[in-house]
Amino acid sequence: MRTVDLLKQLQDIDTQTEAAEGMLPRLQREIGDRGPLADREAELGRAQRELRALETQQRDLELDADRLRAKIAADEAKLYGGRVTNPRELTSLSDEVAQDRRQLSPVEDRLLDVFDRTDRVSARIAELKTALARETEVWSARQEVARAQQRESEAAVASLQDQRTALLEQVDPRARATYESLRHHKGGLAVAQVNQRTCQACRVALTPAQEQRARMGADLVTCHSCGRILYVRLT
Ligand SMILES: [Zn+2]
Repeated sequence: MRTVDLLKQLQDIDTQTEAAEGMLPRLQREIGDRGPLADREAELGRAQRELRALETQQRDLELDADRLRAKIAADEAKLYGGRVTNPRELTSLSDEVAQDRRQLSPVEDRLLDVFDRTDRVSARIAELKTALARETEVWSARQEVARAQQRESEAAVASLQDQRTALLEQVDPRARATYESLRHHKGGLAVAQVNQRTCQACRVALTPAQEQRARMGADLVTCHSCGRILYVRLT
């Protein structure tokens, strides 16, 4: 096997490792991130707080209404009970009842309004819960996919690292140093394939002699334009 064949294998392993590792940051960010559900959860939280406020308002208004109704009933009992006969006292009681009724009326109106709003907010909460349940299901499924992809990528990286270690034992140290240096300086691509006498990394044409030397593989031949190691597949 030519040295360049080993380097091409090394390049393929490194390219695949980079791709597999490149997936991981996105997956790590995605896993456990409830961000996509946050807006809906916040909306539901607001609606639930609104409902609790309405329930408090309703209790307060009902207490007011009960208090006024009890007072009206007691005053009316006195007014029509026959025990109070003093006309001034009767007029005063009658005024009192009229005033309490005037107070009761807006309390009852507000209660109706609160009931109405409670109904609407309750319906909204039910809708939000349904939507959130549906979205949580989609989210959970995506989480599953992301976790599976993470496991796959990690397993792939581990396996590629083993392959790399095994391969390096066969590579001459000087060739390896050339490869690593080129990979570092050439954006991760040290070995360029030659197709139709053209360097596939920089698209520059090679002379027949250059291609022939690269094909022989007696020594490493680099592209005169981009400097990468040229690899000609033997058919
Ligand atoms: Zn080139």
